[in-house]
Amino acid sequence: MLMKYRFFALALALTLTACAHYDPPTPSDATSQLAAPMTQASQAAITPDLALQRLKDGNERFASGNSIMRNLPDQVAATGSGQFPYATVLSCIDSRAAPELVFDQGIGDIFSPRVAGNFLNDDILGSMEFASKVAGSRLIVVLGHSSCGAIKGACDNVQLGYVSALVKELQPAVEAVPDDGRERTSKNAAFVEKVAHANVEITVKEIVDRSEILRDMVTKGQIKVVGAMLDVETGKVAFIE
Ligand SMILES: [Zn+2]
Repeated sequence: MLMKYRFFALALALTLTACAHYDPPTPSDATSQLAAPMTQASQAAITPDLALQRLKDGNERFASGNSIMRNLPDQVAATGSGQFPYATVLSCIDSRAAPELVFDQGIGDIFSPRVAGNFLNDDILGSMEFASKVAGSRLIVVLGHSSCGAIKGACDNVQLGYVSALVKELQPAVEAVPDDGRERTSKNAAFVEKVAHANVEITVKEIVDRSEILRDMVTKGQIKVVGAMLDVETGKVAFIE
């Protein structure tokens, strides 16, 4: 019994000593600022170029394993009464392409419309108009990615339930890639990447061609619309500007 007590006393002493010597990392001011949820004032201070830089910096942190440790429950509490996101990222449903993760963003930072193959339809365009015109988002990013299953399906013109309709939406991108005499199916990885790239460029153009509201905001310098490609093997995003 005495031995048992001694053991617990020793364990307690060791634990207390360990606690006494633990210094939690103190984040730099810049990191604290980035980890703080967006407010109406911080959203208003972000220009389209600053928004773009913020996402570029976030992806650098993500790809190098330096994502910010956020206190998400604190962020939930801080954004519960209102949100002021500064960017909108249209991305694929791919499990490796979650915008909040690949751009190292927190709760309330970005709007994230997602659909397999990151193409445009009326609902997504409406979501973008809401995000920019009503909710103050300053940047729209169309994020494609490497090894995209939806793009591969489009290359092979897959026919399967509702997937057929989705694949049809991606056909303009397939047709946009010039014929170089090589195989135009998902077996040709280079072709798949070219189609994914073309799809991003087509979608960026379509956003400003189709939406009068967003076109007007671009003309006035209130927002920017850019494309980007995520490499799923490295986690790095290359912007197409
Ligand atoms: Zn995809």
